[in-house]
Parts: sequence; structure tokens; C-alpha cells
Amino acid sequence: MTPIICAGQTYRPERIFCIGRNYVDHVQELNNAIPTRPVIFMKPASSLVPANQTLTFPTHGQELHQEAEVVVLVGKSGRPQTPAEALAYIAGLSLGLDLTLRDVQNELKNKGLPWELAKAFDGSAPIGEQFVPYTSEIDLEKLTFTCHFNGELRQQGDTSYMMFPIAQQLVAIAQAWELRPGDLIYTGTPAGVGVIRPGDMIVLASPQLGSFQWVMAN
Ligand code: ZN
Repeated sequence: MTPIICAGQTYRPERIFCIGRNYVDHVQELNNAIPTRPVIFMKPASSLVPANQTLTFPTHGQELHQEAEVVVLVGKSGRPQTPAEALAYIAGLSLGLDLTLRDVQNELKNKGLPWELAKAFDGSAPIGEQFVPYTSEIDLEKLTFTCHFNGELRQQGDTSYMMFPIAQQLVAIAQAWELRPGDLIYTGTPAGVGVIRPGDMIVLASPQLGSFQWVMAN
């Protein structure tokens, strides 16, 4: 199990919620419809891979894509009813990758089947395990981040372009699951998703959230 560190506390996540189709530009690049409520899916805790570890290719698909995302750590239990209330549930923020087997996902989508084989396999959620504690100084709708492959810019994100802002995501999740300390939320990816190749060095960075890297095995 990958421990998450935030403000001197250690969390052991049991649940990883992910928001799909949350940046208009990424929805358009995959030719998906713009959702009227957040698309929510989950990954198991065995998906997590801390920074500086070598990633390995899953063997049940061909086309592995990176999705760079801001990740929220939940700090207390309950069901926030409004975005304003939801802020009190956020313990910290970091960056992570929602790894996706795009060929498998397209096949499952076409058949109307669930996405687990495409998105919830072991190692599918690299995580910058050192979280920045959330305070009211941090504007959740003005976080910026980048994803570089071998030094080349591939994704550039700005949370002001989310269709469902972070606080609203917590409210939507809490309608179905009472939030618990240690829950992680992958908040969606901007445009620029692309194929991962053997030996790729992937770097996620944000002026507010720090920098994390992984290397894909050869
Ligand atoms: Zn994603």
C-alpha cells in the first residue's frame, strides 16, 4: 500500500475516485459528449505508484496513455452538501497520472461495458505521494500544472477550465459515498493525452503543488 503524506500525517487510501471528461478541450479531443453531471469512476488502492518508481506496462492492452491530473486528499468524514461546505473536507493537493489503456477503453465504451480493465489495473494511478496541505490561501480554481515527456511539454492544465470545479466534485461524490479521510480524487485531465513508450521519463509539475517523476520500464 502506498502511504500518502500531508502536513506530517500519514494516510492509507482505500478509495480512489476519478472524474472523467472534465476539461472541455480533452472531451473534444476524444470526441465525447459534454456531460451534464460529473463522470465518476474508481480505481483500487493497488493502482497507486509513488513518485520515483519505475512504471510497468500492463500486458492486456497496447495503447497506454498518460492523463495528468490534480489529485485531492480528503481529510474528514461526511457528506458536504454545497461547494462552500466541501472546502473543509480537503486536506491536501498533489498531482497524479490516470493511466489508461485507450485501445481497451474504446472497445469497452463501444460495447457499453465498464472501464475497469482500461483504467483500474495495478499501477494505473502514479501519485505524487507528498501532498501540499490545503489552506484558504490556495485558489482551487487557479491551479496550473504541466506534464513533460523526456523534457518535451505534452499537457498543460489550468483548473479554471474545469467543467466541474473541485469543490463541486466532492459534493457529487458525497451524494453516493460518504467521504472518508484518505480518499483520493483524481480531478480530470486537460487535452494532450498521448502514448507512453518504453523508457519514457514523465514529469508532472505545478508551481503550487511541486514536481514528481516516473520512468516507464524498457
Ligand atoms: Zn482521467
